[in-house]
Amino acid sequence: MSNAETFTFQAETTQLLDMMIHALYTNKDIFLRELISNASDAIDKLRFEALTNAALLADGEEMEIRLEADKTARTLTIHDTGIGMNRDELINNLGTIAKSGTRALLDELQKEGKTAEGLGELIGRFGVGFYSAFMVADQVVVVTRRAGEDNAYQWESTGSGQYTLAPAERATRGTSITLKLKDVDQDGGIEDFTEEWVLSRIVKRYSDFVNYPIKHKVEREEIERDDQGQPKPDVQPTIVVEDKTLNSMKPIWTRPQSEVTEEELNEFYKHITHDWEAPMKTMTFKAEGRFEFQCLVFIPSRAPFDLHYYGADYGLQLYAQRVMIMEHCEDLLPRHFRFLKGVVDSADLPLNISRQRLQQDRHITQIRTWLVRRVLDALKAMQQDESEAYLKFWEQFGRVLKEGIGNDFDNKEALEALLMFPSSNDPEQLTTLQSYVDRMPEEQSDIYYLTGESRRAVENSPHLEAFQAKNYEVLYLVEPVDEIVAQSLFEFSGKKLQSVGKGAVQLGSDEEKEKAEQAIKEQTETYSNLMELIQSKLDEHVKEVRLSTRLTASPVCLVGSDFDYSPQLERLMRQGNL
Ligand code: ADP
Ligand code: MG
Repeated sequence: MSNAETFTFQAETTQLLDMMIHALYTNKDIFLRELISNASDAIDKLRFEALTNAALLADGEEMEIRLEADKTARTLTIHDTGIGMNRDELINNLGTIAKSGTRALLDELQKEGKTAEGLGELIGRFGVGFYSAFMVADQVVVVTRRAGEDNAYQWESTGSGQYTLAPAERATRGTSITLKLKDVDQDGGIEDFTEEWVLSRIVKRYSDFVNYPIKHKVEREEIERDDQGQPKPDVQPTIVVEDKTLNSMKPIWTRPQSEVTEEELNEFYKHITHDWEAPMKTMTFKAEGRFEFQCLVFIPSRAPFDLHYYGADYGLQLYAQRVMIMEHCEDLLPRHFRFLKGVVDSADLPLNISRQRLQQDRHITQIRTWLVRRVLDALKAMQQDESEAYLKFWEQFGRVLKEGIGNDFDNKEALEALLMFPSSNDPEQLTTLQSYVDRMPEEQSDIYYLTGESRRAVENSPHLEAFQAKNYEVLYLVEPVDEIVAQSLFEFSGKKLQSVGKGAVQLGSDEEKEKAEQAIKEQTETYSNLMELIQSKLDEHVKEVRLSTRLTASPVCLVGSDFDYSPQLERLMRQGNL
């Protein structure tokens, strides 16, 4: 091309492409899933933008994805009639690693020294879909025109450090991605991707539920027949070319549950989340009655890298009568359930509902209340019946769930029951509050905890001494979010939660407590001069110097008053972490 400009990929992109091209990974057919998924995303985007700008649909094109294979040229093209890309978008989306996901992938690769086998698993997890085309193609050509704009562009690359960009011709909106396929190499995972049955199989496997038709032109011989239905002897069969739709497009949650296989659910999950790994848990809920809706909800196997970033998208996909109306609906679940992925399909929502109206819509509030309860029940059941799986879940998402203790008053009790903490009972195991209570000696009246920076730090704290001496268990609240828990959890099962780092502690039976108090009173008189002296020296720094029974080995310790922030909370607030 004469008027093509040459660009250099970002260093990280080059590095990534290089790995992609040389990957020993054999599941290379996933490239088609990734490109179809991008095509489907692009049509979704078009549909959403067209809600406020109908002119984008002016060219009258159907919303569809089309596969076109050329056996002689050995090319495969994926066409879509989606939103398309303008020049800047091409450069940003296909040329640079603007997405934090890709950077996270590279970090992970470097950190773990991942082998080629591990690469495949990581590719999907961090969403580097488009580049997977280079696993099966020597060259990739993208011709695209953004809906509503006049100019089309061609992007071209062999994946070795550079790409070119040039003006192109394209009559309608959308994107066509042409792959110059590598030679067939069954052992290396490169099948003949120009074969109809190969494409058909891959689409069925990974993309059957895509919302738009994935079409492919097939040739069929038509034989003329006589009145008896016998082929006419001297007439040559005619070749008929017709469209075949390769995917069923059937929403997976509308099919009878007994018919849907685990693999199909997993593929659907991967399609909507761009995750590579199968989910940890799949939950289906259905409400019938005054309001009708269906939910298909997944717990991912691993927390995504942006789970704790404030601005990251979250929320379930919202469908109204089987049409997706919102990709990330934040109103369907409280924020501390943001780790859940999936779909809610309501029969009662209007298709053109606005975001603002959605927030106040009573269907949505009802779905939310109902769904949260179901999810809490499911987690409770998991905690009771599949404790190992629950621990894995807790390790990944417990921190998020804990946020709810501070603000989800309707479900506080259910959330409390799900909490797990390390404790002095068995440093290697987590305990629920209920098991803690079950272990409490009869004369122990409160639940004790200590907050701190790490388990190590709290385990060595002099605050624990008296509790250890009495064999009273202490919970270790050592995550930043535990400060929220400590601030909002006053009581569990009728027992007060009491910080061992605050206030005066008197342990033991009433009789013992009385004795200790008496002893302190006497000693305070005996040592009153000494106490006054220490107090006068420390006056600027502490509120009060007093004798205590809480220490057994250390001579002194610093405690907060009942209503003080804990040192850990102060530290976090100073760092601006809360
Ligand atoms: P992801 O889909 O996770 O964002 P990809 O590597 O698959 O990552 O795609 C990168 C970006 O390129 C997409 O986010 C999108 O902006 C753009 N893109 C890719 N394919 C298409 C397409 N067919 N139509 C429009 N934009 C596309
Ligand atoms: Mg993608």
